[in-house]
Formats: sequence, structure tokens, C-alpha cells
Amino acid sequence: MKKKLGLTSKIFIGIFIGIIFGLIIKGMPSGTLKDDLLLNGILKVLGTGFISSIKMLVVPLVFVSLVCGSSSMGDIKKLSRIGGKTLFFYLITTAIAISLALLVGILINPGAGLDMSGLITSKPTIGESQSLTDIILAMIPSNPVQALASGEMLQIIVFSLLLGTSMSMIGEKADPVRKFFESANEICMKMVSLIMLLAPYGIFALIANTFATTGFEAIFSLIKYMFAVLLALALQVLIVYSGMIKIFTRLSLKPFFKKFANVAAITFSTASSNAALPVTIETMEDLGVDNSVASFTLPLGATINMDGTAIMQGVACIFIAQLYGIDLTIGSFLTIILTATLASVGTAGVPGVGMITLSMVLTSVGLPLEGIGLIMGVDRLLDMARTTVNVMGDCACTLVVSNSEGELDKSMYYGKKEGELVAINA
Ligand code: ASP
Repeated sequence: MKKKLGLTSKIFIGIFIGIIFGLIIKGMPSGTLKDDLLLNGILKVLGTGFISSIKMLVVPLVFVSLVCGSSSMGDIKKLSRIGGKTLFFYLITTAIAISLALLVGILINPGAGLDMSGLITSKPTIGESQSLTDIILAMIPSNPVQALASGEMLQIIVFSLLLGTSMSMIGEKADPVRKFFESANEICMKMVSLIMLLAPYGIFALIANTFATTGFEAIFSLIKYMFAVLLALALQVLIVYSGMIKIFTRLSLKPFFKKFANVAAITFSTASSNAALPVTIETMEDLGVDNSVASFTLPLGATINMDGTAIMQGVACIFIAQLYGIDLTIGSFLTIILTATLASVGTAGVPGVGMITLSMVLTSVGLPLEGIGLIMGVDRLLDMARTTVNVMGDCACTLVVSNSEGELDKSMYYGKKEGELVAINA
């Protein structure tokens, strides 16, 4: 009997065919077939349609799931303990990530001896980066309906936590509302599973589009820079995340990486932590993390914890400093660690924002912002990889925190229980 292909395998086939198809389209002459029918026709409908479909679920899922999670938390003490631990792990892993990136940058010297004058085509347009005060104030929604409508993640988190905690405090009186949210949560999860059935086609189109439109000329001169970023990202996964999961939970790493493959396919093809959120939450709950933890730590992580982005920023600082022949002192390194950690908090989980917050890090140590223009050409490819690490960092911390709270079902982690959610991997 023929074995049916699982969703993950289908997604990886989609990625593979997407790369080949994208490179073929890139070689085609411009015209109706390439531009109108393929790039702006079929691939756009499939790719953008898929992203919009998963994005459609982000706000309802985060809201409903977080209200459910915090209303079943029992007491505020537990919520603040989980919050404290999560923030601790998020900040520490980001600071380690950026230090690792600086170390790799110093060892590899990505910008030494390069003449990049040919690559500077135009001055980069750099958006405004937010200050810490703005970030804190922007967390409080003056109108929660507006926050939901515009998808302001931190505001939604604050409002959902307040609602859920209040429900938990009034006990039985909140039962009808609790039941409503529990049922809505199940429905949202089902919607995620349904939309994921489209993933192989959507991801195929997104990858094909990226490869058909990326300028590969830039890659050759930036190969050392790209290698340094990818190496630091790999070390973060292999040493920091694997190490912390092993040390703090003593679990085998295999189930984690195996289930994470579905999340990675989304982060890789969309380069957006936010878009991946529904699948991230579903995957971590499938791995046995209780909803009360996952629903809180993952949306928070997708918004404030960007280890991969911090790594890119660390390597970029060294690269730009070497290109312009600027010496970085120990003080500059410490400043980079501090500002890149803060920049990670202020980086939204959407494509390309890491480049904008990089300006804040460069300014803090007096490096020229024009340097951003040099690395922009390869940023989309690196964004795909760093977003995957951003989200993996959220998942690794979530696993550790849920385990420390006794909110991790180990038999589910090892896939021993057949839950409904397992169906997504079937
Ligand atoms: N694309 C990244 C994310 O969504 C953010 C960035 O580094 O640009 O996680």
C-alpha cells in the first residue's frame, strides 16, 4: 500500500520545487508570461493568499488563546512568575546571541579587504526606530477594539491578560464567558489546521517568488558576511537552544526539532514571526506545553524576542566597521550588546524590520548608516534564516519555562498521546 506523504514532507517538497521554479523564472525574459502571468499572477495569488490566510488568524488566536490561558492560571502570582522567567530567558538568550555574533564577526572578519563601492547604488531609506519610552507607553491600549483591529500585539497581550486574570479572580461567575472562550479557542486551532493544508502550495509560491526576484550579484561580494551571520545563527541553535533545553528540561531534542520543522517552513518562507504565530502556538501545544504558558510566552516572544535579528545586527556592525576602517573598542562592543538587545525588543515580527532597528545600533556606536545600503541586497535571504531563529528562541524558552512550572506534558512531547492537534503532522 502506498504511504501518504505527511504535511511536513509536502512543505519541503514545495520549498525545493519553489527554488528550482524561481531560478527558472529568473532566467526567463521579461514579458507577459514572466511578469503578468507568473510573478504577479499565479505566484502572487498563491503566496500572498497564503500569508493573508494565516495572518487572518493571528489576532483572533492570540486574543482567545491568551484569555483562555490567563483565566485558567489560577492566581496572579503564577502569572507574574511565568512573566518574570520568560523575560529573563528572552533577554539572556538575546544578549548571548549578540555576543556570539560579535565573536564570530571578529573571527571571520567579514568586511576586511573588501571594496564595496560598486554595490552602493542608492542611499538607503531608513525608517524611524522607537525609543524605549515609546515602546512602554505603546503597550497600553486606550481603545482595545482598535488594538485588535490594527493587530497591535503588545496592546492585545496587555488587554487579554487583564481580561483573563479578572475572569480567574471572579471564579465561577465568569464560567459562561470562560466556556465561550474555550470553545472559540478550539475553533481557532481547527482553522489553523485547515489553513495549513494550503501551506505546501503557498510556501512553494513564496519561495519561487523570492528566488525569481533576488539579485544574486550581491551574494558573491557579501558571501563572507552571509556566512558569518549563518554560522552565528547555527551556533545559537546548536549550542544555546539545544544546551538550554538539555540542561533545564533534560528532554531529548529530537521531538522538538522534528515538530519545529512545520514552524520553520512558515518562518523561512514568510520571514515573519507574526505570520508564523498560529502555527507556532499549535506546534508547542502539540509538544505538550500547556495553553496557559504557550498562549502568553509565544505572542510575547514573537513581539519582543528576536535573537536571530540581534545576531544579524552584531555581524553587520563588525562588517560595516571593517569596511569603513573604524576600530571598535570594548566599550563599543558593550554598547552594541545593550542596544541590540533593546532593538530586539523594538523589532516587530514582520519582514525586514531588523534592518530598520539596525540603524539604532549603528548610531549608538557612531557607525555610518550608509552601511545598511550595502547589506540590503541580501537581507531577504538572511531574514528568512534569522526569523526562523527568532521563533525557535521563543519556542526553546517556552519549553524551559513550561517545564519549570510543571506545565509540560512529557508524554505528549514524546508523541505518545494521540491528540487532535497531532493530525496536522499526519
Ligand atoms: N523578519 C523578522 C521577524 O519577523 C524581523 C527582522 O529581523 O526583520 O522575526
